[in-house]
Amino acid sequence: MTKVWIMNPQKIEAADSGLQEAARWLREGKRVAFPTETVYGLGADARSAEAVAGIFAAKGRPSDNPLIVHIADRSQLGDLTDADRLDETSRRLMDDFWPGPLTLVLPAKPGAVAANVTAGLPTVAVRMPDHPVALRLIEAAGCPVAAPSANRSGRPSPTRASHVLADLDGLIDGIVDGGPTGVGVESTVVEVVDGVVHVLRPGGVSAEELRRVAGRVEARGELSAALARSGEGGPSSGQLAEEEAAPKSPGMKYAHYAPRGRLTVVSGDSPDRISAWIREQLRKASAEGERTGVLTFEEHCEQYGSEADVVVTAGSLQSPETVARNLYGALRSFDEQNVTVIYAEALEEEGIGLAVMNRLLKAAGHRIKLV
Ligand code: AMP
Ligand code: MG
Repeated sequence: MTKVWIMNPQKIEAADSGLQEAARWLREGKRVAFPTETVYGLGADARSAEAVAGIFAAKGRPSDNPLIVHIADRSQLGDLTDADRLDETSRRLMDDFWPGPLTLVLPAKPGAVAANVTAGLPTVAVRMPDHPVALRLIEAAGCPVAAPSANRSGRPSPTRASHVLADLDGLIDGIVDGGPTGVGVESTVVEVVDGVVHVLRPGGVSAEELRRVAGRVEARGELSAALARSGEGGPSSGQLAEEEAAPKSPGMKYAHYAPRGRLTVVSGDSPDRISAWIREQLRKASAEGERTGVLTFEEHCEQYGSEADVVVTAGSLQSPETVARNLYGALRSFDEQNVTVIYAEALEEEGIGLAVMNRLLKAAGHRIKLV
């Protein structure tokens, strides 16, 4: 049985009996899911190898994919890394973006966290979430909390407690239900090397925002890279193979965020051409007995009414933040309606659009169609 505590993020107090119980469970080595500003996390005491092993087991997560350690206060940083020798850029990023959706990969203090948290790496990924329930819970637990997203490995991340229960009910000890999350995609993971900020995973803090604080920021848009390759004579009509290069962030190599239906991302310069091509595919798929779905934007949703069984609108093209917030719920809704073939329109890789496209392309197993 998974226990559920319901909490109002606006009214949560440290003395709340549910919060105290959830914190005690974490301290005792149990697995407790909780809301953050990005997605729901599945927490355990980062110092306990046994508790952390419980996270990997519940998620079915590969053991070489390390976990992010969550703290509630900068004073906890010294337990995880040599805080006195922190590089200037990392310090500035923390000053500006913590609490918030930014994870920093830092040199790990030996023995600070269990070896399975870092998958044996000499570094530890740390963040301070900007959510009152998460902060109070971590503070009350009194330990660094290792917490990946609270979904079965490979599935879309949970942005509501109901998503967590759909994947992990009975597999974890408890869940704090604090309502829907705000940002909707995970934190940005960065590593600073010689003053240069390398974005290992795009997320809630955009590359543009990072650039305002740190001089050099290296971030790669996967869709732009695919487009560039096609311009160089690379594959242009349909399937683009996933990059073979060794991933800098171990989690980058795994299939992720995927709905059960076969998802293809469609991109190009002309919205009319995109919708015409998608409509044609929908007709073909229907004729073959597939149940079809489209992930689109408010501006285009009327284009598909007669062709698709399920049309999901993630938000307006004018509000990529809304699209990010709705993305995982939208992917899960195709599963809830047993959709077997899905086409998704692409978003500009600007601002949080970079993170949205990163997740969408992973969810599609990098099936991109350029029209
Ligand atoms: P998740 O917990 O599923 O949101 O994923 C956490 C992300 O952080 C994954 O992409 C991990 O590979 C990455 N990560 C965690 N720890 C490290 C680390 N020490 N070095 C590089 N990447 C890390
Ligand atoms: Mg995850």
